[in-house]
Amino acid sequence: MFRRSPFEMRVVVRAPIGRDAPLLAGTLAVLQIETAISNDSASLLQMLAEGAGSAIIAEEAITPDLLQDLSAWLDLQPAWSDMPFIVLTSGGRPTHESHRRAKELELLGDSTLIVRPVRPDTLQSSVRVALRARMRQYEIRSRQEALMQANADLEQFAHSASHDLREPLRSVSIYSDLLARSYGPLLDGKGQQFLTFIQSGTKRMDALLADLLSYAHASSISGDVVESVDASRSLEAALDSLAGAIRESDAQISVGEMPVVRMRESHLSQIFQNLIGNAIKYRKEHELPLIQVSATKAGVHWVFSVADNGIGVPPEYKETIFGIFKRLHPNSKYSGTGMGLAICHRIVERYRGRIWVESKPGHGSNFFFTVPG
Ligand code: ADP
Repeated sequence: MFRRSPFEMRVVVRAPIGRDAPLLAGTLAVLQIETAISNDSASLLQMLAEGAGSAIIAEEAITPDLLQDLSAWLDLQPAWSDMPFIVLTSGGRPTHESHRRAKELELLGDSTLIVRPVRPDTLQSSVRVALRARMRQYEIRSRQEALMQANADLEQFAHSASHDLREPLRSVSIYSDLLARSYGPLLDGKGQQFLTFIQSGTKRMDALLADLLSYAHASSISGDVVESVDASRSLEAALDSLAGAIRESDAQISVGEMPVVRMRESHLSQIFQNLIGNAIKYRKEHELPLIQVSATKAGVHWVFSVADNGIGVPPEYKETIFGIFKRLHPNSKYSGTGMGLAICHRIVERYRGRIWVESKPGHGSNFFFTVPG
């Protein structure tokens, strides 16, 4: 949970000329803002790491090394953080050199330039703006942390519930099977039919719980993966698992060139398995399923596509189908739990990617998803 440390609202000052730093500290003391004066680049970075609301740096203290260190430090900061810097520049007319310096300072992200000699009220208002901006960032962090905790609790609940509910369900399933085997012949037609309903109900419930468990697993994965996988290996694993369905349906699957992506093999394979499995399941009645898997590079991402010639998705359901337990057909027509696309969505989201469908009902569907390259 968010705790505001006493360091987070102080202003760190790095100004090498002796009299500058105390002058700045005196000006900010009027606003009751705590300042910490650093004497070298190393202590500046140390103080920023300990927590600061803003940093005031004199231009002459910004060496190329410091700029590089600061930019490396900024890269490591969490997404909510955008440290506001105030840079005190030398006055005078703009020169080629001053333009070049200003360009270099863009590395600092949120930076405000104040020309010397600095007026106390200018400095005070700039620091006030910087601290307000920083305060808002802390508030966002705090809200994000609360939301993440609530999500984690919910995922834990879904995980325990689906796991624990499968236990008693197993007993129902075992004993209804035993009942059918040992006492089935003693039951009349109605009794046997009721028993069949119990058996198919438990099977369906078990499939729903298993998929809910997979969904909870997908929710807990981390997308910060350093390992890479050749997508063709994930695809092969998916096709192996679908071998039976491919054979039965006579599906023709063509595969384009597959890239290497930054993802765990099993996660990519699970996406392929769900999408290709659906492409086979939602085929047209009198047409062989034709499925094309391909990938194209788009910036730092790869966009994968799984296209089929099946029944298609009506435009009004293009988003809903990615929700949990969302299905467009009765189980008697196409079996399923409505969790496959929700699981794909969760995995892709964990890798900061996107998944969507383009389709014309009756003319097939094309499912796209992006993953980091
Ligand atoms: P399930 O297949 O178990 O119902 P999914 O989450 O995988 O669950 O899919 C949700 C719904 O999206 C399906 O019920 C189906 O209506 C639709 N759908 C998914 N893939 C396709 C596809 N390739 N072609 C047509 N409809 C599809």
